[in-house]
Amino acid sequence: MPENVPSPLLTRARQIVGDDSRLLLPPPPGANVSGFAVRPTPAVLRPSSVEQVLELVRAFNTPGSPPLYAVSTGHNWGLGSREPVHGGAVRVELHGLDRIRRIDTDRGWAVVEAGVTQRQLAARLADTGRMLNVTASSGHTSVLGNALDRGVGLRRQRVHDLVGLEVVTPEATLARVGWWPGDEAAGAPNPHGLGPSLLHLYTQSDLGIAVAGVIRLPHRPEAQRVLRLTFPAENLRRAVDTFRRWQAQGLFQGVLKIYDTTSASSYGTRDTAGHLAHLSVGGTPAVADALTRIVTDEAEASGLFTAVHRSDRTPPADDDVVSRVIEAGHSGNTDHHEDMLRSAVGRDAPDVDSAGGGWIFFLPLVPYTGADVAAALRLLDDVHARTGIRPGATVNALDPDVVDLVVSLRFDRSSAERTAGAHRALDLLYEMFTAAGYLPYRLDIEHASWMDRLSDPVSLDLVRRIRTALDPNRVIAPGRYS
Ligand SMILES: Cc1cc2nc3c(=O)[nH]c(=O)nc-3n(C[C@H](O)[C@H](O)[C@H](O)COP(=O)(O)OP(=O)(O)OC[C@H]3O[C@@H](n4cnc5c(N)ncnc54)[C@H](O)[C@@H]3O)c2cc1C
Repeated sequence: MPENVPSPLLTRARQIVGDDSRLLLPPPPGANVSGFAVRPTPAVLRPSSVEQVLELVRAFNTPGSPPLYAVSTGHNWGLGSREPVHGGAVRVELHGLDRIRRIDTDRGWAVVEAGVTQRQLAARLADTGRMLNVTASSGHTSVLGNALDRGVGLRRQRVHDLVGLEVVTPEATLARVGWWPGDEAAGAPNPHGLGPSLLHLYTQSDLGIAVAGVIRLPHRPEAQRVLRLTFPAENLRRAVDTFRRWQAQGLFQGVLKIYDTTSASSYGTRDTAGHLAHLSVGGTPAVADALTRIVTDEAEASGLFTAVHRSDRTPPADDDVVSRVIEAGHSGNTDHHEDMLRSAVGRDAPDVDSAGGGWIFFLPLVPYTGADVAAALRLLDDVHARTGIRPGATVNALDPDVVDLVVSLRFDRSSAERTAGAHRALDLLYEMFTAAGYLPYRLDIEHASWMDRLSDPVSLDLVRRIRTALDPNRVIAPGRYS
């Protein structure tokens, strides 16, 4: 891979972006909050329009050009931030494409460019009947960037929000895949289109650069509150099975979150004894009241819980950062999100990678049974015993059958020894969880080679052949799922 950008290409790139501040050469020395090796990056390009992205791809589709690696806002903290997998790629940062092109709160969708942040879109939806399915990460993260990595919001996985993409292909054409609203009559979202569905060819993908997308906007419940249930660690199995039944029978909506003590304190809530579950109930006011009563009665009858609090009567304390983020987040509001980011990594969004404390994610899916969740948490105890690092765990119950177990490693990045220890713990997590059948659904930049271990070989070969057909000159740099 070329180490430098040939100078005629640089001249052309500078002409395209049209402003010296939009081409960094070489970029300032990077760092990432996970302490992963910094990849040599010959240049960073910051286009401000779709036309510029098209022109850049056209210019780089020439022999001897380094490949392009796209990020939206580049805040993929815990998985590698804005680093590519391999050194030598020119990074294309799309935060300058920040237009909300169209929004329809009646039909429930927004057309957003790659740099549109969740805070920006959430603000546009305040006081409407629609909301954004926000994640628990910073308000400054990209809606599209997160959806492209198949991230998870408080209401559901972002893949369920994403219905269409506008993609610059390696041959510099602009393709719209999935569903796109018509100019005259918008129609109804159909992410699959007719025939083979192309939308997810471009998520967790290095087949093109996504410049815009269509995001569905859930209806805002007329009444909504979050119930907080605490329970001791010894009740975990039965509590999880109980939540599963409630979720399957529709007693609450969205993603149920359970924090253990380590995880709660990592994200900014101290003094939790045992586990704390947050579940959101909503609907018409009568439905919200009825569900609250049913859940409260069920919780009491089960004898598993030490306390049940409802956010409308006992709002979270000012220093209970996690509960405040979740309560606001379930109604599509990111007002408290930066507090949680600061608690987790000690810095605000712009400084997380340069100066934030060490942070790594490991993200496996686990069957939603008490036995499986307990077994997965026991693996974390083993990692603790073997490395001295206690991973935090948040159970994100996505639906009545699937848990996204968010494992976080928090460490002191100023210590080389502690950083190496965290990386050892991460390797162990991959080995142990995979051996138990609990496979990750997102990879970090150091474990991209696990694609070979985790994928069906014939299907992986098919994807690689599709890549060769679509990008024979390797204009787009290999990603984490290559
Ligand atoms: C405290 C804390 C809480 C967090 N909570 C959550 C959470 O609740 N849910 C969650 O999912 N994550 C969470 N994260 C992780 C992360 O911060 C988010 O996933 C964040 O949205 C990703 O960063 P981004 O939006 O800037 O995307 P980017 O970093 O821009 O993009 C992510 C990846 O998608 C690909 N990509 C991005 N843009 C493009 C493009 N235009 N074309 C092609 N490929 C592209 C690239 O591979 C890139 O690495 C959390 C992190 C922290 C520290």
